[in-house]
Amino acid sequence: MKDTHLQTDTILTFFQEAGCFKRGHSCFYDNQHGNGWVDILPLMQNPTKLQHVADAMATLIIRKIGKPSIIISPAISGSIFGAFVAARLEVPFAVTKGKKDEVTFHRRYQPAISDNVAFVEDIIYSGTDARANLAFLRLYGFKNITTFSLMSRQIGEIDTSNVFSLVTSPFELYTSTDCPLCASGERVQYPSARE
Ligand SMILES: [Zn+2]
Repeated sequence: MKDTHLQTDTILTFFQEAGCFKRGHSCFYDNQHGNGWVDILPLMQNPTKLQHVADAMATLIIRKIGKPSIIISPAISGSIFGAFVAARLEVPFAVTKGKKDEVTFHRRYQPAISDNVAFVEDIIYSGTDARANLAFLRLYGFKNITTFSLMSRQIGEIDTSNVFSLVTSPFELYTSTDCPLCASGERVQYPSARE
């Protein structure tokens, strides 16, 4: 594998140029507030740039866990990104679907059980979906699952699965009662932000 190393700054510039950063008073679906949110769609719509970011993710995965036995990603955006990463690493790939207690493999994906798995997401916000996926994958029989995301609001680990991200969100989160933008009377620019 070619060791493509994209610096964090370069990836942030990609996000910036693609229009992924929505700056302004934001209200998220779980009622947290923030000074902006990250919209991954513009990057998804540019596969050439997405390939560069996937190459950087492949490098991060190798550095953290070596070559994984498989990459598993959730439908839809996560799996688009995950497929690019799996192609670069030349490893098998599978897609999950569903949320909470209903996560399963998409259609006829029935990967062989293996060790050293990379669960690859696009953006992790609350970690709820990642947690549900990890529970499903463990129940299915996979061992040693490490979580990788383009960007994560969750630092450290999710249910004992280490979480590694390419970049850190440039935005802050506040509880709705603690929001400095609300306190200064600024109107909400993005009332239904979702990363
Ligand atoms: Zn606010």
